[in-house]
Formats: sequence, C-alpha cells, structure tokens
Amino acid sequence: MGIGVKQLVDQPGKQVLELHKDVPHKALTSVAIQLRFNHIDLNSYKARMKLPGFRQPNSHRCTCIGSAEQTPEHILMECPELAPLRKTAKELGFGGTIKEVLKNATFLVQAAKIMLQSGRLKQIQHVNPYLYAF
Ligand SMILES: [Zn+2]
Repeated sequence: MGIGVKQLVDQPGKQVLELHKDVPHKALTSVAIQLRFNHIDLNSYKARMKLPGFRQPNSHRCTCIGSAEQTPEHILMECPELAPLRKTAKELGFGGTIKEVLKNATFLVQAAKIMLQSGRLKQIQHVNPYLYAF
C-alpha cells in the first residue's frame, strides 16, 4: 500500500529548498510538501494512518471506476476522472514519472495545482481557485 517517503524523495538538502523557493502560494507550498512526503489527504494515506472512516479493507481506493489505490501517483498520472486536468497540465509540459515530477520545481507546482483542483483535498478546499489555476 502506497509508496514510502524514502522511495519518493531523496534525502533533504539545499536542492529541496530550491524546489520550493518559487512556489507562488502558501497552499501550493503546503500541498507540494505533502506530496513529496506522501502524507497528503488521500485515501491511501488516511487508510495507512487508520483514520476514522478509513479502517475498512478497501478504504484506500480511489473514487473512480476500478480498484486503484488513491495515491499521489494515481491522482497525478492515472485517475481517469482527472484526465481533463492532466491534459491541461501536459499542454504546459507536465509529465514524467512521479519521482521526476517531485524533483522538478515547475512540475511540482503543476502537481500541487492538479491536487488542489482535483477536489480530493478536503482540508484545503476553501482556497481561492484563482490562486492555483493553470
Ligand atoms: Zn482514481
């Protein structure tokens, strides 16, 4: 279940600070950090943490058709419900593997925007959508 932090990101260092220095808004920075650490308000994380309402065997799954685990990679690369969002991002150059996205400052901002626009992050749903539009 889920990819661990050590598998997604390298050891923190100056290069990590460089990744975040141009992130234009606090909510985007917050989501970018949550993505890099795979501690983000998605079903896979909530099931892994055994949060209330996420202790059932299939609670880690996404809301889309199929049985995919709702991970950052699924939302950013695979979820069929979010294909239109990804299409917009891809037109701006977004792409690559999840590891490549999380290591690239431009892609990381785009990934955070996809996450915010996906409507999956309940704790950040009141952020002004104009702040994270493509
Ligand atoms: Zn999905």
